[in-house]
Amino acid sequence: MRITSALLALLSPVLASAVLAQDSGITFKSTELAPGLYMLEGQGGFTGGNLGLLMGEDGVVLIDDGLPPLIGRVQAAIDQLTEEPVDFLINTHVHGDHIGGNEALGKEGATIVAHDNLRRRLVAEGMPTATGSSAPAPDDSLPVVTFSDSVTFHLNGREAFVFHVERAHTDGDAVIHFREDNVIHAGDAVFNGMFPFIDLDSGGSVDGFIAAQERILSLTDEETRIIPGHGPLAGKQELQAAIDMLKDAHSRVRALIQAGRSEQEILEANPLADYHDDWSWQFITTERMTRTLYRALSD
Ligand SMILES: [Zn+2]
Repeated sequence: MRITSALLALLSPVLASAVLAQDSGITFKSTELAPGLYMLEGQGGFTGGNLGLLMGEDGVVLIDDGLPPLIGRVQAAIDQLTEEPVDFLINTHVHGDHIGGNEALGKEGATIVAHDNLRRRLVAEGMPTATGSSAPAPDDSLPVVTFSDSVTFHLNGREAFVFHVERAHTDGDAVIHFREDNVIHAGDAVFNGMFPFIDLDSGGSVDGFIAAQERILSLTDEETRIIPGHGPLAGKQELQAAIDMLKDAHSRVRALIQAGRSEQEILEANPLADYHDDWSWQFITTERMTRTLYRALSD
């Protein structure tokens, strides 16, 4: 398995049926969070991560672009909101369910912006494909502007502060804060109401993931809207719940490791059992979450 395709490889049996079926009825719903600022959410199957869209007289900024076979659906949703092309495309991280449309949008002239490590991984490891393998990343899919810590867009009468969170979901994560609008696009640093995928093979870490979520939490108040990488629109309460769950799950697994239990014994003890009903989902089951925490604590 190629490292950057870890998630897609995980998803590939489902992708083969749900996503590659072009007529499967998948659409993208737009929700306006502030004037000209939208969340785009796929509906009708697994559609990849949630997108953000900012438009106005200075230009169009898109955050993430979904799975490669769905870029036409994403474009159709954008076309309903504006006739203008995408000027800037921000990638929140390297996974193919968030940047699969890069090549198509890059060809159309979008300037792709991402963290240094995202570009580095794309060049070194290739672009994940919809079937879980990797292909060399086409030039048009590569970020042309990269940053190490943060970069700020001054467009359409507001600021979009794009900042890096270290070793969280991957080693190239970006979070976007629309300060005036009190809206945050968290990328996959936030999974709302579901166990998070923490991609240890792509530089992610549990401690970094928790730190990233706490940094995002520090930017919120009761009115803040958070576009999570996956799951419905969130607020401060949902983020707090996700942090509490992960910290507690982490310490439960740590306690078992400290008591000398093996991975298999820990899986049998099922320390996350009471989180199962509310947090387990198709791709990150209770068992997979337990294994990730075990591995992170054992490295
Ligand atoms: Zn991801």
